Amino acid sequence: MSTPALRMSTLFLRTLREDPADAELPSHRLLVRAGYIRRVAPGIYTWLPLGLKVLRNVERIVREEMDAIGAQELSFPALLPKEPFEATGRWADYGENIFRLKDRKGSEYLLGPTHEEMFTLTVKDLYGSYKDLPLSIYQIQTKYRDEVRPRAGLLRGREFIMKDSYSFDVDDAGLQASYDTHRAAYIKMFDRLGFAYVIVRATAGAMGGSASEEFLATAENGEDTYVRCTSCDYAANVEAVNVPAPQAMSYDGLLAAHVEDTPDTPTIATLVDHLNATFPRADRAWQAGDTLKNVIVTLVHPGGRREPLAIGVPGDREIDEKRLGAQVEPAEVEAFDEADFAKYPVLVKGYMGPGVLGEQAKSGIRFLLDPRVVDGTTWVTGADAPGQHVIGLVAGRDFTADGTIEAAEVRDGDECPNCGHALETARGIEMGHIFQLGRKYAEALDLKVLDQNGKLVTVTMGSYGVGVSRAVAAVAEGCHDELGLVWPREVAPADVHVVATGKAEEVFAKAAELTDALAAQGVSVIYDDRRKVSPGVKFKDAELIGVPTIVIVGKGLEAGTIEIKDRATGERREVPVGQILEAVVSEVRGAAS
Ligand code: ATP
Ligand code: MG
Repeated sequence: MSTPALRMSTLFLRTLREDPADAELPSHRLLVRAGYIRRVAPGIYTWLPLGLKVLRNVERIVREEMDAIGAQELSFPALLPKEPFEATGRWADYGENIFRLKDRKGSEYLLGPTHEEMFTLTVKDLYGSYKDLPLSIYQIQTKYRDEVRPRAGLLRGREFIMKDSYSFDVDDAGLQASYDTHRAAYIKMFDRLGFAYVIVRATAGAMGGSASEEFLATAENGEDTYVRCTSCDYAANVEAVNVPAPQAMSYDGLLAAHVEDTPDTPTIATLVDHLNATFPRADRAWQAGDTLKNVIVTLVHPGGRREPLAIGVPGDREIDEKRLGAQVEPAEVEAFDEADFAKYPVLVKGYMGPGVLGEQAKSGIRFLLDPRVVDGTTWVTGADAPGQHVIGLVAGRDFTADGTIEAAEVRDGDECPNCGHALETARGIEMGHIFQLGRKYAEALDLKVLDQNGKLVTVTMGSYGVGVSRAVAAVAEGCHDELGLVWPREVAPADVHVVATGKAEEVFAKAAELTDALAAQGVSVIYDDRRKVSPGVKFKDAELIGVPTIVIVGKGLEAGTIEIKDRATGERREVPVGQILEAVVSEVRGAAS
């Protein structure tokens, strides 16, 4: 099929020499500079012609792989009534993260941040028997989320495009099969998108549910941190790492705890110095990890209820905001400030300890411990009096908490929960999330079918998302160099960028002829036919735009050659004019197969 070439003389495009002021990441800078996208408002972008081509290519790959597993495409509206979201509790849970609006009659609506409710209700509307299942349906559609920090252009937008699919099965085995099928399709899809990625265990987040994995594009600038084991194949988003808890120990024979004066030791570092100077240990020096650090935050629950939460972690670890956030979702975490402290006079800032923390203790504040703080472990911690700490406080014997929480940071070298070897951390961009949602939405919205025995059973669901617009940025983030973008062929806005240089009429005639011949063979071409633009500018633009094959028709023509340059490797070769069409076509086709 013939695809008309894009001519630079008329293409709706302005490349920029300067980086946009608000762009921190290379993908964002380059997509704006090379004329793929334009910012309209924070997290809201226009797709210019080249950008739209890349987006359509990503959509095509996603669509083909979904269709290949028998998933059927449909499309829900973005503008949705609030009632179904009230039924599932998400009208409240989403808080400030959704765009809400009213129609002229005063009825409330939202712009869909995701469509579980719609998928569930539509299946309920049309299906009623186990014979109708399994079913997988999907859409590629615009979502709206009022993200706190829209970031990095397309990576975290407030309007963005997502592919979301759902599977519907009558039983758990069916759900597992649907999940496995989707997982395999995702692997094909991400292999085709052409960036490096890892599959990691994930938490289910606000959606609820159980088994869950994320596909992360590996990227230094990614917002997600994941860990992988240096020995086995364990890999997980840090949010989902379950710290291996040591065995509880007997406290028989441990000495009694004793309160000591530790003036001016409100921080772990000052405390450890003081301990080593004043209460030296016989066996070794005191370390930060010997102390129990108690941190208080405020949880803001959907609907606005504020609840203080105390967390005890070994003193050598910080609280990881993302891990904490994932544990307390849908509540949000805010600082516990001076005004909050004023409401709880039993809390002595810098010297808080388990003596007052916990629902049964003086403060009544819920107190959760890091899983490492098992019964029989001994700690130095706050004695709830200014300038005092308690030494030798034994978990289980001297204090208890209201439970455990996975909120402490995960570090390089930590033990793998699977095999015990060292973990290493790295960063990535969440590109896809697949998980076994189970019966949460089907229960909330009463989606039942008759099973083989004529009994009504609740349907079980899987949920599978891909960030389609985010993928454009993630590919750009993974595929660029200092000159510009370097698109993998399957997503590139064109296969070939033909550059005509110089003034000679023959050059333009030959370049136009080659462009038409390529187009006639179904090769997509950008042709730089601009007459008054210097070769230097044309080369720079070609490199910035990042089409995989650059063909230069110019000086060589007199000697009967045309140059082919590989954008990715920079490799150049001269090809006789008579063989150029074949050479370019085989380059394009060869790389595509
Ligand atoms: P994140 O943790 O990055 O906010 P999420 O867990 O909220 O993502 P899901 O609700 O699972 O994401 O959405 C499915 C996919 O949609 C994500 O894997 C991601 O690729 C994409 N996505 C989510 N939020 C955005 C956004 N604000 N901009 C662009 N893509 C997004
Ligand atoms: Mg999100």
